[in-house]
Amino acid sequence: MNPSVIIVGAGMGGLATALRLSTLGYKVQIVEKFYQAGGRLNRIQKDGFTFDTGPSFFSMSYEFHEFARECNLQLPFSFRELDPLYSVNFRGSDQTYFLYKDIARLAEQFEQEEPDFEAKMERYLAKCGGLFHDTVDLVIKQNFNSLVHYLTTLARVNPRHLPVLFRKFHDQVNRYFDSERARQIISLVAFFLGRTPFDTSAVYTLLSYTEFRHDGYYNVEGGMYKIVEGLVDELARRGVSINYNTEISAVESRDGKVTALVDLHNHFWRADMFVVNADAAFFRGKVLERKAFSPRKLDIMQWTMGYLTIYLGIKRQLPNVHHHNYYLGDNFYDYARDIYKNPGTLQKPYYYVNVLSKHNPDCAPQGCESLFFVCPVPDLRYKADWSDRDAIVDSIIDDFSQRVGVDIKPEIVSRTVFTPQEWEKHFNLYRGSGLGLAHNLMQIGAFRPHNVDEKFKNLFYVGASTVPGAGLPMAVISSKLVTQRVVALRRKFAADKVR
Ligand SMILES: Cc1cc2nc3c(=O)[nH]c(=O)nc-3n(C[C@H](O)[C@H](O)[C@H](O)COP(=O)(O)OP(=O)(O)OC[C@H]3O[C@@H](n4cnc5c(N)ncnc54)[C@H](O)[C@@H]3O)c2cc1C
Repeated sequence: MNPSVIIVGAGMGGLATALRLSTLGYKVQIVEKFYQAGGRLNRIQKDGFTFDTGPSFFSMSYEFHEFARECNLQLPFSFRELDPLYSVNFRGSDQTYFLYKDIARLAEQFEQEEPDFEAKMERYLAKCGGLFHDTVDLVIKQNFNSLVHYLTTLARVNPRHLPVLFRKFHDQVNRYFDSERARQIISLVAFFLGRTPFDTSAVYTLLSYTEFRHDGYYNVEGGMYKIVEGLVDELARRGVSINYNTEISAVESRDGKVTALVDLHNHFWRADMFVVNADAAFFRGKVLERKAFSPRKLDIMQWTMGYLTIYLGIKRQLPNVHHHNYYLGDNFYDYARDIYKNPGTLQKPYYYVNVLSKHNPDCAPQGCESLFFVCPVPDLRYKADWSDRDAIVDSIIDDFSQRVGVDIKPEIVSRTVFTPQEWEKHFNLYRGSGLGLAHNLMQIGAFRPHNVDEKFKNLFYVGASTVPGAGLPMAVISSKLVTQRVVALRRKFAADKVR
């Protein structure tokens, strides 16, 4: 008989794992605490507008194609490449930089402040490309069975990358560029990992290669939630059920194996194996009550920033605002130093604006625009009180209005705000941290919470806080890694039976 698997969480990692396992003949069910699938990759439909709640683009599109091939399906969504990748504006400046993938075109914008930008960028990207190709298959897309396995694998990485291991992202960028503007713009991608360029390892400069050279960024036609809709439809065709409003709060176990998961209504969910898509660190602490993940231990781990996200429907269009836009301040160093812990940074906020309706007109009524703001904020350890949320949101809207030259306040017809409190409440994100555990050297690879449980051999993990890390393509890779674990255990059980 085909083994049964219950997956806890219908985020990108949970859905992708469900599809992979159903392809291999497993009998799969999903339990999800929220009322609809997607996790952070969710959707709000309100007042005639559609908003994606979290991701607004993804990289490494080939991971999605490979995933579809391995699950015997046509990708149930289509995507379009972004070029420019995004625009960047600094407070007090009229200039907007466009991050074109064509480096010669990009360089034209730096003629004044960064002579030889094109040659410098080519040198920088060549180094980032080397890092990417020398690590992606060897380290990022690998399961590690022990620390020794991990360290011996790292020892096989080309030694020319060793110095990079001990540098920060910003230091690496500084070696190639001299002007502050170029340095700040090229380091921006570190924020996509939920930390700043000053505390993100230079290893992640490989992201510059993924954005400019290797594959770029993609937006999904009709909005990012089409990914979820497509995967959920395919799962339904395969008989995989998703049980919503079901939060797992405890486990029942015997002889080193989980026998059932228990939900908040004391319903027991029984299966042969279990995959947890909830945060791999927080679940171990809250549900399994592991000492290594006690509230005190979780609080001293490094977490990615919290996010204040704002979803606005406005009754006019903004022809001069592009699809993806970064609005930075004029105090990059102070801001990056204070952002994790000091709510004072919100007086001069840095934020990102996505105009979903720009490429997807169905996401807003005719003549209107659907706007999505993301502003990094301290997580709930450092800012637990959000009673000032409306004042903060108003100040961001004012700042944006000033920068785009249109007062959008009187145009707003729909307004929804998620602070880290909502992110925590809806999806169990620890302290509202947006991307889960940070990616510092002591929290990646074999040091990240493993995708196999330490105590229960039939309990596994998938998603942002286990290997390899945060972001949609990483969730797809994570689903592949955990599927390999599940299959290996099934083989072991089968071999034990024969003996
Ligand atoms: C504001 C924002 C912007 C982002 N932008 C991008 C982007 O542009 N590009 C990109 O690639 N990535 C982006 N990301 C990151 C990306 O969203 C995540 O890395 C990815 O969606 C995480 O997927 P996941 O499978 O790990 O889990 P999640 O999405 O966290 O899903 C986990 C699921 O488990 C459920 N759950 C939790 N606990 C329980 C429980 N006890 N019982 C039952 N169910 C439970 C949750 O409700 C949730 O549905 C962004 C994230 C945020 C927050």
